[in-house]
Parts: sequence; structure tokens; C-alpha cells
Amino acid sequence: MSLQVQPRVSLKPFNSFGVDVEAQLFAEAHSDADVRDALAYATAHAVPLLVIGGGSNLLLTADIQALVLRMATRGIRVLSDDGSQVVIEAEAGEPWHPFVQHTLAAGLSGLENLSLIPGTVGAAPMQNIGAYGVEIKDVFAGLTALDRQTGELRDFTLQDCNFAYRDSVFKQQPGRWLILRVRFTLSRAAHLHLEYGPVRQRLTEQGIDQPTPTDVSQAICSIRSEKLPDPAVLGNAGSFFKNPLVPASLVAHLKFEYPDLVAYAQADGQMKLAAGWLIEKAGWKGFRDADTGVHKLQALVLVNYGGATGLQLLELAQRIQQDISQRFGVELEMEPNRY
Ligand code: FAD
Ligand code: NAP
Repeated sequence: MSLQVQPRVSLKPFNSFGVDVEAQLFAEAHSDADVRDALAYATAHAVPLLVIGGGSNLLLTADIQALVLRMATRGIRVLSDDGSQVVIEAEAGEPWHPFVQHTLAAGLSGLENLSLIPGTVGAAPMQNIGAYGVEIKDVFAGLTALDRQTGELRDFTLQDCNFAYRDSVFKQQPGRWLILRVRFTLSRAAHLHLEYGPVRQRLTEQGIDQPTPTDVSQAICSIRSEKLPDPAVLGNAGSFFKNPLVPASLVAHLKFEYPDLVAYAQADGQMKLAAGWLIEKAGWKGFRDADTGVHKLQALVLVNYGGATGLQLLELAQRIQQDISQRFGVELEMEPNRY
């Protein structure tokens, strides 16, 4: 067995909140064989298995009594190329942003709006990662996952994944599917999505009126770097709450009291509220309690100033949820995966 299992490993370097909890057992998977060895090890030792990627969407509230398996498999390959569309596959452990850059350098369009999202390729389908008007479902070609219940491999189509806003079958069936590799259909011709206000504005400021996918990626990287804390400097897990989908009638009601309320119409008739606006309006932006806080530039991001525990961050999140519910009658749902 090539898998190296270590006892009692601090997970501080392996979660972007920088929360210091310990894994009972820890290993890294560099191949499918390592993944199978980890499953066998967990079964033989009667411990649960927790799979992680970059740890950028985790809230760890206690020591993890499990074998924590960090996906470190690497490899990117072109599966087909008809001259206009290319199907490209990446292993689960590939870091997401370098993979996006790899596709752009190869002259492929489709992932540029998803630039600078932390984490791995294998975790991207978990919550159908999205930013600036694009979600991975828009360019998704398929994935291969291991069914942890049967040990069998399964290929998933777009329909199988049940993708929705920050949601998928993988999130709905926690712990069942271990994603090994993901495929995307990308284009040689650019089909750009510039409808999210700041993107077009940034390109215009730079004097770019005919942007390439790389221009869009660079504009998004610069916007994100200005607004979002770098986890290497200030612990965070990106947006802590999902933007709530609410009935249009509630938005109409709230607009009486808050004419500047930010809400976006959805195809199904619902409205999406900007959770960050609600939290900022309630006065939480820049709030700090001991080492937990709400980021001063983006109210949707909770931060760890150094020594916060997962439970303290959870407590702050719950206070915010309660306040938003009381003020606006809106229930905020947490986005990070809690363990
Ligand atoms: P982890 O945090 O390690 O894991 C997340 C979940 O996926 C866990 O439940 C884990 O068990 C599971 N998992 C991980 N790998 C696998 C696998 N191979 N098979 C099965 N299950 C697996 N998200 C967005 O959608 N849009 C954004 O714009 C965005 N911006 C962010 C900005 C910052 C600064 C940060 C810190 C986070 C941001 N996120 C964003 C959240 C996060 O980056 C994404 O959700 C990312 O896909 C998580 O990847 P990860 O590898 O770090 O997953
Ligand atoms: P923003 O531009 O301040 O906008 C606030 C919210 O309004 C966004 O979350 C977005 O919802 C929504 N929005 C803005 N323009 C819209 C439009 N034209 N049509 C529909 N909805 C619109 O957002 P931000 O916080 O700086 O983030 C920018 C993008 O990166 C967003 O897409 C956001 O989701 C993504 N992001 C995600 C995370 C994460 O951890 N999940 C972290 C950082 C950034 P949506 O979120 O639904 O797009």
C-alpha cells in the first residue's frame, strides 16, 4: 500500500479559515489506488472517511474523528477536439485556478468568469461553483466518481448531477460520492458573460472594448483581489451565506421600507436577495468579536483574525442569521460544509 496514513495531524494548514483542529488520521491521495486504499483502511479500522480538497469551503468545529483524505491527484488531458469545441478532463486534486489558467493559455473559453476561486477541481461540482454569472454546470461535460457504498465507478452526466444554485446531488447525498475527475466542454470561440456590472466596468476602465477570455479573467482577478480577503493573510471561507431565493411578494414588501434593497429576478419567478446587502444594512460589516469578524469590505465573508475556533465562527454566523431573520423575515443558509 503506497498510502501514508499519519496519526493526529493538525488541519490548520488544510482549511482556509485557519481553524486549528486535529484529524485523528490523515493521508493524501495521489492516485485512484490511494483512494481505494484509504476506503479499505477506513473500513478495516472502523473509522469514517472525510474527503477534502483545498479546504476552502469548510467550517471545522471540533477535532475530526475520522481518516481525513486530502485529494492530491494531478493530471489534465484533452479528450476530444473538433476544432471549435474541446472536452478537457482534470483530476480531482488539480488546484482550480491554475486549471482555469491552463485552459485560457490553451485558447479555450468557458471558465474565465470562475477565475481565482480557491480549491480543487474535484470539489467544484459539490456546490456547482459559480461567480459573475457563470456556474460550472454551464460548461460541464461529465465526471467520474466512486460510489463509496458499493466501491463502483460511475460516470455522471449533467442531468445526473442535479445542479442548482450552490447545490448538486453530491451535496444532497453527503459522503456517498468521491469525485475522481471532472470534464468540461470549452470553446475556441469566446462566448463571454459580461452582464455582472463590475466586470464590464473594469474592462471599460482599462480601455478594453473587445475583451478576450484572458482579459475577462484578469479583470475578475483584479476585482476579487480588491474585495475578498486572501485566506493566506486572513482566514475565511468566501461567502459564508448563500444569497436567499425568496418570493417576489416579500421583495415588494421589503422595498417599502428599504427602497435600495438589492434583488435580482430569477427565471422561475423568485427573487435572489444579495445576502451581503442584508448583513451590511443590519450593521454587521466590519464587526469584530475576539478573533471572529465580518470582513470590512464584504459583509458576506466571515473572517478569523487568528485564534478563532470553528465554534466561535459558528456562533457569530448564528447571531447574524437570527438578526437577519428578525429584521427582514429572511432565513440565511450557511454555505460552508460543517464538520
Ligand atoms: P473543500 O473545502 O476541501 O471541500 C468542500 C466540500 O467538498 C466538503 O464537503 C468535502 O468533503 C467535499 N469534497 C472535496 N473534494 C471532494 C471530492 N473529490 N469528492 C467528493 N467530495 C469532495 N465558491 C464559489 O462557488 N464561488 C466563488 O466565487 C467562491 N469564491 C471563494 C473565495 C474565497 C476567498 C474562498 C475562501 C472561497 C470561495 N468559494 C467560492 C468557496 C470554495 O472555494 C469552493 O466551494 C471550492 O469549490 C471548494 O473547493 P475545495 O477543494 O477547497 O473543497
Ligand atoms: P457583488 O458583485 O457585490 O454582488 C452581490 C450579489 O448580487 C452577488 O452575490 C450576486 O449573486 C448578485 N448579483 C450581482 N450582479 C448580478 C446580476 N447582474 N445578476 C444577478 N445577480 C447579480 O458580489 P461579490 O460578493 O463581489 O461576488 C462576485 C461574484 O463572485 C458573485 O457571483 C459571487 O457569488 C462570487 N463569489 C462567491 C463566493 C463564495 O464563496 N461562494 C465568494 C466570493 C465571490 P450570486 O452570488 O448569485 O452570483
